[in-house]
Parts: sequence; C-alpha cells; structure tokens
Amino acid sequence: MAKSFASFGFRPELMQGIQDLYYKEPTPIQEEAIPLILEGKDVIGQAQTGTGKTAAFMLPILNRLDAGKRDIQALILTPTRELSIQIAKEVEKLGKHLHVNVLSLHGGTDIDRQLSKLKSTVHIVVGTPGRVLDHMQRGSLHFGRISTLVLDEADKMMEMGFLEDVEQVIVHTPSQRQVLLFSATMPDMVKRLAHRFMKQPPHIKIEGKQKTVEKIEQFYYVVNQSDKTDALVDVLEQEQPFLTIVFANTQVRVQQLTARLQENGFQAQALYGDLSQSKREQLMRHFREMRFQYLVATDIAARGLDVEGVSHVINYDLPNDVESYIHRVGRTGRAGQSGKAISLISPRQKNLMSRFAKATKASIEERILEPGRHLDAGRRQRALEREAHFIELRAKQAKEQQKEKEKEFAPVREALKKKAKVKPGYKKKLARELEELQMRYEKNRRKAEAIAARKAGKTVKPADAKKAGRGKAGRGAKGARPFRQN
Ligand code: AMP
Repeated sequence: MAKSFASFGFRPELMQGIQDLYYKEPTPIQEEAIPLILEGKDVIGQAQTGTGKTAAFMLPILNRLDAGKRDIQALILTPTRELSIQIAKEVEKLGKHLHVNVLSLHGGTDIDRQLSKLKSTVHIVVGTPGRVLDHMQRGSLHFGRISTLVLDEADKMMEMGFLEDVEQVIVHTPSQRQVLLFSATMPDMVKRLAHRFMKQPPHIKIEGKQKTVEKIEQFYYVVNQSDKTDALVDVLEQEQPFLTIVFANTQVRVQQLTARLQENGFQAQALYGDLSQSKREQLMRHFREMRFQYLVATDIAARGLDVEGVSHVINYDLPNDVESYIHRVGRTGRAGQSGKAISLISPRQKNLMSRFAKATKASIEERILEPGRHLDAGRRQRALEREAHFIELRAKQAKEQQKEKEKEFAPVREALKKKAKVKPGYKKKLARELEELQMRYEKNRRKAEAIAARKAGKTVKPADAKKAGRGKAGRGAKGARPFRQN
C-alpha cells in the first residue's frame, strides 16, 4: 500500500501546507526519496518533470527549516528563470504555515531589487547558476550555513553550459551540506558532477510513465504545411479547450501564429525568449488568472511552466527530440487532472511520432481530422489561387508560342515580299508552305480557345466547334489573311 504523508512524521504546519494543495498521497518519487532525504543522505533522483520531484526535495527541507534563524538554509539551482520562479512559488505554498521566506534569483530582473530583498531574512534561495554566482561574487550572498543544496534538472543545466558556474557555487558551500541531485537523464557530465560532490548517494529511478502523463490522451493529425493554421483553428473549435498551450519551434512562428489566432477571434498571447522578464511574468500571471485562453510559446520560454487547468497542449510544430516532447506534453495533466496532447504533423514526421510513443511508453494514435469551416474554406481558397495561377501561366505560354510562330513565318514572308526574280514554280511553292503553316496555326489556336472556354465554364457545342473549324483557313489560301503580304 502507498505510504501516506503522515507516515513521514512531518510537522503539523507542513501537513497543513500539503493539505492546502490537496496532495492526497505521495507520488512514487516522493515515497522513495523523502525517507532517505530525512535521514540526511545525499540522493540522486532520476525523474522527469511532472512526477512531483519538486515536493520530493522541498518537503524534507521545509520540515527541518528553522524560520527563527536569519541564515540561508537551502539553495536550489535550476536551469531556467521560469523553473526558479515556479519552485519559489511552490515553496511559498507548501511553507505557508511555516512563515518561510524564499527568494528567486534569476536573470532578467533588476539586480538592485534582488539585493535589497537579500538584506531582509531569506531562508531559501532558488536561482539560476549565473545569477547566483553573480551575487556571490558581489558579496551579497553567502552560503556558509546552508544545510541542503539541490541541483534540479542537472542534465538541463549541463546542456545549457552551466557546469563551471555550478561547480563554483558548490565549492563555496560547507562540506557538511547535504546534496540532492535531480535529473531526467544521467549523461556522463551529470554522473561526474555527482561523483565529485556527493557522498555515496542512493540512486532512485522512477521509470517510464509518469503519474500525471498517464492521464494524458495523446494523438496526432497528419496535415499539409499550408493547411496547418486552418487545421489548428478547426481543432480548437472542435475541442473547445479550457486553457491551451500551443508550441511552435521559433519565435517568428510563435508571433505569426498568435496574430493568426487573434485574427480568428481567439484570445491568444505569445511567449518567447526575447520578451522582457517582467512581460513574461505578467503574461504568465494573466494566463494563470485565465484572462486569456491560448498561450503560444517556444520551448525555452515554456520550460518548467506549471499552470493548473491546462486542458490541452498542441504541438503546432513537432519538437525534434524526445525530451522536449515529454516536457511539452507534461504541461497538461498537472496535479492529477486529465489532459490532451495533440500534434499536427507532416506525413514524413510519422516516424518521429512513433519514436516519441516508444520513448514515453505511451500509445499516440493517428486520428483523421474532420475538416471544419476554416480548413474547408482555406482549401477552397488555395485551390482557386492555384487555378488562377495556372490560367495566367497558360496565357503566357500561348503568347510565347505565337511569337515563335511569327519567327517561323518570317523567312517565308520575306521571300514573298521581295518580288524578286524567283521562278514562278518556287513562288507557288512558298505560297503553299505559308498556307500550310497558317492552317496549322489556326487549328492550334482554336484548340487552345476551346480548352480555355471549357475551363472557364462555357461549353462549346461540337456544332459551333465545327463551324469555327471551317473558318478562314477552311476558305483556302485566298481567304486566309492573318499576315500581311505585299
Ligand atoms: P513537478 O514534477 O515537481 O514539476 O510536479 C508536478 C505537479 O504535481 C505539480 O503541479 C505539483 O504541484 C503536483 N504534485 C506534486 N506532488 C503531488 C502529490 N503528492 N499529489 C498530487 N499532485 C502533486
């Protein structure tokens, strides 16, 4: 039987915080990691986002925290500012009845404001390695008395080139501190880091499906690139989602897509790396408060976002790697709710999709999209545009052909023009050649006209066509005068 939170012997104030968040029972990573962390061991937790790993390390830290002391007692390093802010928020919620002061230190915000906050009591610091190191070098931060150091999403921190910064920070912490390392994967760099700075840590691995991901329904639609936006609009109309995050792969695509959604009457806002920190925070606040329903984002901007009530995640563009796919999908189905993850893919991306399914041990089925009014209208419009383009192209070709013909006639005409001393027989021969050329030309022209008329919706009756066939050329060389002869 699963353990209960009460079995950990947490303080009543902390149990109250857990209850406030409606956590009923510990998740697998919490069940395994919390007793070891409470014993004071260094621990490696290999678990993905969405498994409840934050509370797994935070609950023991909060349980032993002494709010009466003015020292910083725990430091949590994270790869991104979003994750840092999110962890700080979770600490505030869980530690609400413990009167804990937590500070998030991350780039993109005013360093002076952070400095002034550091002058008041701070018990827990969460931050990105660069900004934390910056404060240490200014002398505004000391970690001489911390009892716990957490390296969260260690693989991401290494991937983002934070190894040196992380090492610098670690060597300035007391040797007796407890080190907790959490990482979705264990590349060599992370293993080396653990080996250097941790004391015989037990390695907890939470395999396969995450508690929350199990409740996510995943499927995809195959659509052409030119149909994608219309398809997205139809999907949104059909799904009637609550809060939705739409992922696109670049900033430009995020901006364009947001504009298109707005044009179609959706309350959409764009979130991407280049926005100022305050703008990003404001956007996230408004999204959480449901002031708008559709957040269009790039991966980096959305890393670590934890918003309750996200019913749908849509991959407008498919990510290239499994990690990003898992991360995106994990934005829905938070806190045990159900969710849907829908991808719009090209036929060639089916292989990639089956790789994601294998890696997540999930079934991601292909579904056929019922074209709604947008996809229908869009396709019709594009078909008309294509047709107009071909008509223009054909007209151009006909003109060119006519020019060519004219060139072909030129020598004959020239010869006829010169009332030179040519043998009578030769003159007749030239006239015959000219007549033949003219007849061929007329025939081709009529054929082209008939095709064009058919395309334009006019039907040419066979009788009319015949009549036309007996036109000028039918009257013989004398009646045919498309070219001037001298
Ligand atoms: P994390 O893996 O830390 O990103 O957490 C994923 C989500 O699960 C967050 O929204 C947490 O608030 C939520 N969560 C953490 N622990 C529990 C729990 N024991 N029961 C229900 N939800 C939880």
